[in-house]
This record gives sequence, structure tokens and C-alpha cells, in this order.
Amino acid sequence: MIMDEAPKHILSKSTFMYGCQCPKRLWLYKFHPELRDELDEQQATIFQRGTDVGLLAQQLFPGGVNAAPPTPFEYQQSVLDTAKYICDGHKIIYEAAFQHDGILCAIDILVNRNDRWFAYEIKSTASVKPQFMKDAALQFYVMTQSGLSVEDIFITHLNTKYIRHGQLDMNQLFTSVSVKKEVMELQPFVDMKANDLKNVLQLQAAPVMEMGDHCYKPYACDFQGFCSVGIVESDVEDEYVNHHAIVEFLDQLVYPLYFMDFETWTAAVPEFDGQWSYRQIPFQFSIHKQAEQQGQLVHVDYLADENNSPLLLFAESLLKALGSVGSVIVYNKTFENMILNQLKNEFPELKKSVENVQGRLVDLMSPFRKNYRLPEMKWSHSLKYVLPALVPELSYDSLAITNGADASTAFYNLKHEADDEKRQATRAALLEYCGLDTLAMARILNELQSISES
Ligand code: SF4
Repeated sequence: MIMDEAPKHILSKSTFMYGCQCPKRLWLYKFHPELRDELDEQQATIFQRGTDVGLLAQQLFPGGVNAAPPTPFEYQQSVLDTAKYICDGHKIIYEAAFQHDGILCAIDILVNRNDRWFAYEIKSTASVKPQFMKDAALQFYVMTQSGLSVEDIFITHLNTKYIRHGQLDMNQLFTSVSVKKEVMELQPFVDMKANDLKNVLQLQAAPVMEMGDHCYKPYACDFQGFCSVGIVESDVEDEYVNHHAIVEFLDQLVYPLYFMDFETWTAAVPEFDGQWSYRQIPFQFSIHKQAEQQGQLVHVDYLADENNSPLLLFAESLLKALGSVGSVIVYNKTFENMILNQLKNEFPELKKSVENVQGRLVDLMSPFRKNYRLPEMKWSHSLKYVLPALVPELSYDSLAITNGADASTAFYNLKHEADDEKRQATRAALLEYCGLDTLAMARILNELQSISES
């Protein structure tokens, strides 16, 4: 059956989900998309990774026809193409699009087995998240209301238990979980919510909504900048210093001190042998060594080659730089300890040396959890608040990379950077950022020592 052009849709899966989170988000997205917060480099990379995983998952069902539109504005053509592919007897359709009563959906993979249709929605996550149910329920609603009989619907996500060795094994990389039961129960909700949201889109002005938890969950809303204009943060006035606890903290230190920081990157799809989805791979460290109190700081750092597995070289360079005696000071011990645990499991020959380092770890964050608080720290013990409060002259503001997430994204993107000058500039920025982290720790410790002597 050849259909004429379908009318433009009113709601899509994305806009339905925006509306479920907050009707104001839906309204603003439709009528004032220019008010959205700017997408940072890190978020852009996450979106890209999501797309890459979707394409990879098509290999689970090879040989399908693709109904994806040439541009995001031509989904009505996809709806027509999908109907034609079904009529023509195709058994596997990627990006199969359907429209019912002004609502559009596109299912990642639609498969026909023994005259029954099975729908697969691909997610680049490590598990089935609760919020995926509404999204799958909408897909199921639109497909079935359009007349397709759907035998089952699955969420297909990454399997973090699969460790890559050699070629990627798609059947192990992905896990599919049937969500038909949950999705069936949500059908009345979808029907009611879709009508409510269509009414929101008839409003002349944005619905009134206060900011709250719903602005961050299940997804960070991208109108937070717009909605938070005029909201003033309340000042924190208390100052608290537990001298006794700070002296106790300092007394445990053994010189030479090593101020140490790691940067890691993670990928949805494992790129090297021994890697699994979302494994945090250390690629960089910075160490400032101080032989005695008030002594000079000596800096050592390491930044991996972006094209090879950095693990063994990272571990060996780290152990060499740390020697075998002296406190190893980190900020938030859990993270560094977790990476060290992974390294010793991976390289049993290094186990003894890694355990030596683990036994020397001291967490510089611990005094700021309970025993030292200044108003400028705003109830936070994160380095990003503690540093400006204690050492205001040392700042990340002028750096090209200002936080760990950006460092991770910058390193991940290096392998796609063809311009050698830009590569070198990024590598220099990474070294500068990580170096400032450990210098900051040394300066903070210095401040704690001054306080304890006062
Ligand atoms: S920031 Fe919060 S209140 Fe504003 S549109 Fe987003 S979710 Fe709604």
C-alpha cells in the first residue's frame, strides 16, 4: 500500500519524555529552543557514543533495510518507507518509524521471525534504567495503535561482564531484556499523558513550574540556565575548625610525601583487549613529591599514547615514581584505590608493589568532610570548592581544561584529531590540568599545617 505524505507529528519519543519530566521543558523545547543551555563538549561526546552504539547493535541483526530519514526533519518519509518495507516483506528494519494520532516513534531495530514482530530499543547504558520503561511504552503504544502486532519488545543494553579479547563479540557485548509486561501496564498512562501533553502544546505561554528534583532526574534538563535566573543561593555562614582532628591527620604523614592524581577515560564499547564497557582506564597521572615539610616540590607526570592500551606502562611508570616509602596523598581515596585494585588484578606480577602503594594512601579530603569548614566551601568538600577557599591565588579558571570530565573527553577525542598542532596543544593542556590538581593538594596541605601550628 502506497500512502500519501503523513501529516507532521505533534509529539515524538523525545518530546514525550521531556513532557513526562516537566511540561515546561516540553513547551520551551517546542517554542523556544534557543533558550537551551549550551551543550558542552562532554555532553556532545556522550550523545555521539549513544549513536555509535546504536549502529553497532545493528550487527546483531545484519542485512536489514534502513528506514532512517536523511535529516531529522524528514521523519514522515521514514514512516512511509517503514510501511513500504513491511508490505514488501522485509524481515529486519532499522530505525522503523510509525505515527499515530500525531505521535511519532522510531524503533531502533524491528525484526520479523515466523511472521511475528519483535522490537529492540538500543541503549548505550550498562543496565535497564527505570526511565526506559515509559520510553518503550510509548514506542509500543504507537506501533500497536498503528496496526502492527508486536510479539515482544526488548531493551538491548551493554553487558559490562563481557571482557574484550580479540574481535568484538556482538552477542556478548549486548544483552536484551524483555520489557513487554511493564510496557503493557503503562499503556493507559501513555494514552492519558500523550493527550495532556498535546494540550500543553496549545498553551500560549510556558506552564508555571518551580525548579526542583525533577530538573535533574531522570535527565538533567537543558533549560536550567533559563529557569534559574533570579534564584539566589543562600549564604552559608558557619565556620568550623577541629584543630585536634587536623593535627591527628597531619601526624600520620610519613615523608617524603607524594601528592598523586589520576585521570581516566571510559568508553561504552571496549576498544582494547581486557577492557569492558565503561571500565575506567587510567591514562594520566601527576605526582608532586616533597621530601620534607616546607621542602621544594618535584614534579613527575605521565600521559599515555592515545592509540594504545596505556595500562601496563601507566602502572610501571607510576610505581617507579612512587618508590616504596612515604605517604601517597590523594583527594578522594576511593577512586584511586579502585583503579589500583584493577591494576593489581590485571598484572599479578605488580601486585606486591601496588599493595605497597595502597597501604600508603592518605585521603586529603577527609579533614574537609567533618573537621574543617569555611563559608566559601559552601558545604562541599570537593577540591573545586576547597581550593579557592584555602588557596584563592591558585585557580583552574585560566586553564584550557578545567575539570576531570573535560580531561577525559579531551583524551578520548585525541585519537580522532588529525591536526598535529591541535593534538600537541590538547596534550599540553591535559598535563597542565592534572599538574595543577596535585600542586593544589600540596598547597592545601601546607595551609592545614599552618592552621595546626596557629
Ligand atoms: S529547569 Fe526544571 S522547571 Fe525549568 S524546564 Fe527544566 S525541568 Fe522544568
